[in-house]
Amino acid sequence: MKSDVIETINKKIDQLKRQIEEYNYQYYVLDDPTVPDAEYDRLMRELQAIEAEHPELVTADSPTQKVGGKSDSVFQPIEHLTPMLSLDNVFSEEEFAAFNQRLFNRLDDSTELEFTCEPKLDGLAISIVYRDGVLESAATRGDGKTGEDVTQNIRTIKSIPLRLRGDFPPLLDVRGEVFMPKSVFEEINRKALENDEKTFANPRNAAAGSLRQLDPAITAERELSVYFYSIGTLQESEPVEYHYDRLLQLRKWGLPVCPETEKVADSKGCLSYHEKILARRESLPYEIDGVVYKVNDIATQQQLGFVAKAPRWAIAHKFPAQEELTKLVAVDFQV
Ligand code: NAD
Repeated sequence: MKSDVIETINKKIDQLKRQIEEYNYQYYVLDDPTVPDAEYDRLMRELQAIEAEHPELVTADSPTQKVGGKSDSVFQPIEHLTPMLSLDNVFSEEEFAAFNQRLFNRLDDSTELEFTCEPKLDGLAISIVYRDGVLESAATRGDGKTGEDVTQNIRTIKSIPLRLRGDFPPLLDVRGEVFMPKSVFEEINRKALENDEKTFANPRNAAAGSLRQLDPAITAERELSVYFYSIGTLQESEPVEYHYDRLLQLRKWGLPVCPETEKVADSKGCLSYHEKILARRESLPYEIDGVVYKVNDIATQQQLGFVAKAPRWAIAHKFPAQEELTKLVAVDFQV
């Protein structure tokens, strides 16, 4: 390739990286995004597409290869026992079909796979370590390797048990999403408007801002909630074979799991789930921005493994952004 063409591509990559890093900083560190998620996703996809065409130009510091944003946190760092990754995402049935085909190719077998389907909760990821059944520490995702110690704040969330129930393991690092219910978000913003204070952009930023408070009493007032959706580290005597059963196990230990979670027999079941949850999106008491499909068989998950920042065995099927949805509806009306 001609050197001036390479230079143009490199310039474009550089420009996209800088813009995305800036948005990451506003979103992850300041909890104060300045652009809609759809615009952020558009830039990320543009960068991914250029990198896919020119893999030789992918660098380890590219935002496509990293989890989250830089941290200049006032909280103490906590190194995760196992990395906390992100999720790859698809935006259409065609992209999901391509994801499913990649699974078949990698497994060298085109037998349909069973999936666990879960809402993609729009909050922030948390890792909580229970040792001998007692809550020991809690950390945000951070850069995936090291998070922020928010143990004191997490302890104020009523639905998070300080002690596990039943036949719990000696060590458990459980992952979930802390979120702010829509009703709480609306009330907080209503009060902020009344007092001429700054409102939160959305429940996700409200949850992140409320959890990352220096005073746990403020976090306690914000009425955050949580659903757990996976395990990072576990010492157990009898391994559980399926992701869905793991979630049932978490519930038995007293950890809340989203009641909308379902097991489906194949990829068609995933799409029906997507349709069903999308239709109910407005009536759910918490904000979601899509659904997540996870290969149910844990041995198959292990066989599939991970890419730089996400598992190969899971995918987020995102909903159209609200502003895009409005546009779609408007177009429908004109026809
Ligand atoms: P992501 O939010 O697309 O997906 C990964 C996250 O999903 C996990 O870390 C977890 O917190 C969450 N999650 C929710 N439900 C889950 C479930 N059932 N199972 C597993 N995980 C679940 O990825 P990300 O890396 O956290 O953030 C990227 C996204 O954040 C972008 O696509 C964009 O929408 C948004 N963002 C926006 C801006 C902005 O400026 N507007 C900036 C940065 C990021």
